[in-house]
Amino acid sequence: MSKKLLLKDAHIEGIRYFETYRKQGGYTAAEKALKMTPDEILEEVKTSGLRGRGGAGFPTGMKWSFLAKPEGVPRHLVVNADESEPGTFKDRYLMEFLPHLLIEGMLISSYCLGSNVSYIYIRGEYSWIPDILEEAIEEAKAAGFLGKNILGTGFDLEIYVQRGGGAYICGEETALLESLEGKRGNPRLKPPFPAVKGLWERPTVVNNVESIAAIVPIIDITGAEYAKIGVGRSTGTKLISACGNINKPGVYEIDMTITVEEFIYSDEYCGGIKDGKKLKACIPGGSSVPIVPANLLLRTVNGEPRYMNYESLADGGFATGTMMGSGGFIVLDEDQCIVEHTMTLARFYHHESCGQCTPCREGTGWMHKILKKIEKGEGKMEDIDLLWDIQRKIEGNTICPLGDAAAWPVAAAIRHFRDEFEWHVKNPELSQTQNYGLAHY
Ligand code: SF4
Repeated sequence: MSKKLLLKDAHIEGIRYFETYRKQGGYTAAEKALKMTPDEILEEVKTSGLRGRGGAGFPTGMKWSFLAKPEGVPRHLVVNADESEPGTFKDRYLMEFLPHLLIEGMLISSYCLGSNVSYIYIRGEYSWIPDILEEAIEEAKAAGFLGKNILGTGFDLEIYVQRGGGAYICGEETALLESLEGKRGNPRLKPPFPAVKGLWERPTVVNNVESIAAIVPIIDITGAEYAKIGVGRSTGTKLISACGNINKPGVYEIDMTITVEEFIYSDEYCGGIKDGKKLKACIPGGSSVPIVPANLLLRTVNGEPRYMNYESLADGGFATGTMMGSGGFIVLDEDQCIVEHTMTLARFYHHESCGQCTPCREGTGWMHKILKKIEKGEGKMEDIDLLWDIQRKIEGNTICPLGDAAAWPVAAAIRHFRDEFEWHVKNPELSQTQNYGLAHY
């Protein structure tokens, strides 16, 4: 059984309220942290090996150490709660059931970074969660954990919740900052990076909800103990939101030493494939990361078991591996059609492109059109090659990672499931009435 650090108290009734959270030991990590110096906290975070839980997996301690500290210029912590990646819903769970864990993490992080005004930017579709967060903020303030001179330390902190308008692109950190400033959420060119010029051109750290929540157990048990959980550079625990054709969709906390096979088939986690079907493929890190067929998902090309961690999932690179990403684990059974699935994703990325750069604005729409044509049985063999060519021209040629996010699913689908694309081309009539999965199993 995986060790639980974030969700250990999630089952306790009333844990979303201050009194219950406090009774379970809540805010003791904050009390401990406020007796430490900011540099000591930073060292603990670095020692923990925590990697950003939003998708990129960049070491959090290193990110914090890049924060510029010009004299007299305010700094900010912004929590990225714009959880819009299809298949990803673990931050929603944290905010809904454990809002004080996030606020305690923000208190420790803001103190470490020197932010007296911090923000939670939350996606518009999570319409009921800002009220939960605002209530928790008020409770924390009434108990002296927010506001002026917190616990007599002289440190002040205000936290504000800002609702987004529902654009996927606002999960990209610079688009988020634009939106938070009240502008259209267009990603900025980098450099300058937010650590130097972020919110209102002030040094800013943008971190995912889960990353900031993880700061609480790191201070609680120490960075060194946190680093002992997990394996290699995949330290600590990770939340995985599992969905698709499985028996037990939900949010699970894993310690990154379990195998993918165990995660899918064990009753502790996904409980196997629904209706006893066969596993066809999986996207383990949210819709942007490459899809992997079952054989390469359960084992690497070298025959080693594949583990639920950053290194093992990526083993083999994009040719045979994938990525941990945001931990949005989407499982597809044998009945699913990869062409249809890829087309749905292409439509999503086209719709969400902000339109600033040509390869993304034009390429995502073009890919969607071609995929639609192939799926309807109206495509030609050359269309598959054209699709491959377009995704190659998008990848790495755009301002922000949405371009890559749109290109990778198409590339992986063609690489691993070209036969399905060809089946649609060769069977125009059948593909109008059936999908590849249903026609083949
Ligand atoms: Fe906008 Fe797409 Fe360019 Fe990102 S890659 S800036 S979403 S057009």
